Amino acid sequence: MNETKKEGKLLIFSAPSGAGKTTIVHYVLKEFPKLEFSVSACNRSPRKHETDGKDYYFLSTEAFKENIERDAFIEWEEVYPGSFYGTLRSELDRIFSKDHHVVFDIDVKGGLSVKAQYPSQSLSIFVMPPSVEELEHRLRNRSTDSEETIRKRLEKARYELSYAPQFDYVLINDKLEVAQEEVKKLVASFIQI
Ligand code: 5GP
Repeated sequence: MNETKKEGKLLIFSAPSGAGKTTIVHYVLKEFPKLEFSVSACNRSPRKHETDGKDYYFLSTEAFKENIERDAFIEWEEVYPGSFYGTLRSELDRIFSKDHHVVFDIDVKGGLSVKAQYPSQSLSIFVMPPSVEELEHRLRNRSTDSEETIRKRLEKARYELSYAPQFDYVLINDKLEVAQEEVKKLVASFIQI
């Protein structure tokens, strides 16, 4: 396997959809200027307010599969049927070349795969919702998703929750301010080591 140059640290955030992971990720990026978001590639269409190269590299399914063929991904997953997401090796090179640490917002399997490839320089954090009921409430309040999408996401959430014990740290996101304080301490001590 092509080894990417290993320099900075890797902070991996995974969670079931609706656990508040994206809010936590935005928070750490704002608090720590040396951290940079790993922009994943995916084959879904951009949502309103999403920008190519900033939120994702939006690829056609064909282009995504070509990247799989030429081993351009560190990891990739079919997160939902027909929806592919992956981390390009070039993305890590880009971030490490700026002497930054990488922040991942990826699904549980992808998160564990990155951790396994960079065991000593990465910290994997599972963002845990207070309960499945609260998760459902948050998904419904988000209102961007259809009933069918919400149902699928809940089903997947239950499955994803079973992966939590395999992560280095489980961050319970009940009260956002409390979770933010906790993650701030965690990240500060990790990147200073
Ligand atoms: P969304 O379509 O809502 O932006 O993302 C759907 C899911 O894909 C989220 O759980 C997100 O964390 C995951 N995801 C985003 N990028 C990657 C990636 O590069 N690899 C993997 N395995 N999952 C990803």
